[in-house]
Amino acid sequence: MQRPWIKSVKDSGKLTVYDGIEEGRWAGVFKYLISNFSGLTHKKVSLVEESDMNAANVVMQLSDGNSSFTYAGATANAIFPGTAAHGKTLIFRVDDLVEKAAVFLPRNPSENHVNHLRFIAAHELVHACGFVTNDEHANDGVFMSFPNFLQGGKISASADSKKMPPYFLASKTQSGLGALW
Ligand SMILES: [Zn+2]
Repeated sequence: MQRPWIKSVKDSGKLTVYDGIEEGRWAGVFKYLISNFSGLTHKKVSLVEESDMNAANVVMQLSDGNSSFTYAGATANAIFPGTAAHGKTLIFRVDDLVEKAAVFLPRNPSENHVNHLRFIAAHELVHACGFVTNDEHANDGVFMSFPNFLQGGKISASADSKKMPPYFLASKTQSGLGALW
């Protein structure tokens, strides 16, 4: 399922993001994303830091595995292992338009090379762009279903596929973003 953001956000081409992940090995990942997400999405979506959690479009936090987020009186749960190599993104909608997203990242992921952390965080931010469900995943790129985390910090879809970084989005993901943004 794809759902667009409310018009004011969509028209701006920007998501404002709260940085709640400056801890341990995650320190610095947020700044990397702010600088590189626009390039990853071919300038469809840029990220701007917002220090007010309530004002931010997207709130990023670390999780030990059992977290929840409340927006406009609705509470949703994010339940996944705090050692997973993926996170969980909760999307809050009003009249089918996205108004808020909460990204939870594993506090102690099993794959913790900085390249892997950047990948895991960028993947969740692609969800936050409006890809609500996992059936939107691609077969390759940052938004793929089943990444292989390789020693030395590379990531690939399969043995003969292009290794990341540099990070990229599959054409399916780029065209989906084009429709949403
Ligand atoms: Zn995903």
